[in-house]
Amino acid sequence: MQQKLQPIFKDLVLIGGGHSHAIALKMFGRKPLPGVSLTLITAAKNTAYSGMLPGHIAGFYSHDECHIDLRPLANFAQAQLYIDRVVALDLENHKVLCANGLVVDFDVLSIDIGSTPATVSVSGAAEYAIAAKPVSQLLEHWYELIEAVGENPQEPIRIAIVGGGAGGVELALSMQSHLHRILLQTQQAIQNLEVHLFQRGTELMPNYHSSVRHQIQQILTARGIKLHLGETVCKVAPTPHRETKEIFEIKCESGLTVECNKIFWVTQASAPEWLKSAGLETDEQGFILVEDTLQSQTHPQVFAAGDIATMVNHPRPKAGVFAVRQGKPLFENLQRILLGKSLKPYRPQKQYLSLIGTGDERAIATRGIITLPPHKLLWRYKDWIDRRFMERFHFEKKSDIMSV
Ligand SMILES: Cc1cc2nc3c(=O)[nH]c(=O)nc-3n(C[C@H](O)[C@H](O)[C@H](O)COP(=O)(O)OP(=O)(O)OC[C@H]3O[C@@H](n4cnc5c(N)ncnc54)[C@H](O)[C@@H]3O)c2cc1C
Repeated sequence: MQQKLQPIFKDLVLIGGGHSHAIALKMFGRKPLPGVSLTLITAAKNTAYSGMLPGHIAGFYSHDECHIDLRPLANFAQAQLYIDRVVALDLENHKVLCANGLVVDFDVLSIDIGSTPATVSVSGAAEYAIAAKPVSQLLEHWYELIEAVGENPQEPIRIAIVGGGAGGVELALSMQSHLHRILLQTQQAIQNLEVHLFQRGTELMPNYHSSVRHQIQQILTARGIKLHLGETVCKVAPTPHRETKEIFEIKCESGLTVECNKIFWVTQASAPEWLKSAGLETDEQGFILVEDTLQSQTHPQVFAAGDIATMVNHPRPKAGVFAVRQGKPLFENLQRILLGKSLKPYRPQKQYLSLIGTGDERAIATRGIITLPPHKLLWRYKDWIDRRFMERFHFEKKSDIMSV
């Protein structure tokens, strides 16, 4: 029997397999739009779920448990998948340009490429520190480190985390917890490990209520994590007069200098230059300014969500929770624009429940001015929410994957 082919009228291109796009793809799979050709261009075949990433570093989740495989997801959404990095946009001619030379045409474009910690302003940071994003690179270095500690547990090791926001704090607690377990399993003293956390401001996690900040500081201090508050790192360099390059000096503006074996960089989020160069209106950090409909202020055929977008009327911290919540309104407005319907405004919540893992299978819960201290039950609740989220992306059939 001959199959009736549907004519394709519109090209919808999604750049980046971030949280919002993962949800939008799932919804497109459930509710496809006839006549629309869907394409996903993303840098890697899987994408990390931020809620479970610290738990993976702490050793509680496997790599697969905290990553969404974008190939079966794209297949489910009947989307063409290109594993490539976008490097430029030609908005006048409606084209997306990729690192491998691929050029993709679009009628409607959506961008969800996340953010990376800014390293450019600090001498040596880009060369010698390990940025927390892209996650794949962070994990490569992390796996190398746990392997090295496992092989030589008797050797003292010092790690530094630069940036005392939620990401930096969770990373410090999770890394310490995992490395302590390795040292204990090999009957070594946990004193072999030193963890240093540098924060420019005098308070950790400045986006959170003071009750959380107070608890977090107490936990870090009790765990022996060395806090350097009010310290601005200004230089990172290999230690002079050492044969191995695996010892680095971290210099602060105050004159404080600390030697470390590994430096993880989790500072303020930044955006790639090509968005601004393409002519998109951005904020000072280079994030795309979007209206309540998630459309670019200057280019209504371009949408953005997640870290890479700054909502002009409702700015929020760069966190996975907001990227997740934008998935559904993004999907609905993409459908509406393709159908020629008017778009719906989206207003993100101001207050939300935040569950922060403390690296020991406990979590703190906070919402507004209320904060509950670390507890196993809160971790179990967080674990249940996170696993339920990931279940949405488990597909039975992985065959027939449209990957290029
Ligand atoms: C260590 C750490 C811990 C964190 N923990 C939490 C937490 O517990 N809870 C929380 O809410 N937030 C957490 N965050 C913040 C969270 O990771 C981000 O806010 C969240 O990932 C943003 O989601 P996103 O959808 O914007 O982009 P991402 O999740 O970053 O996804 C971006 C996607 O785009 C792809 N991509 C990137 N550039 C390109 C390109 N040029 N071309 C094509 N594809 C591209 C990437 O491969 C990736 O798949 C943490 C961050 C860090 C660093």
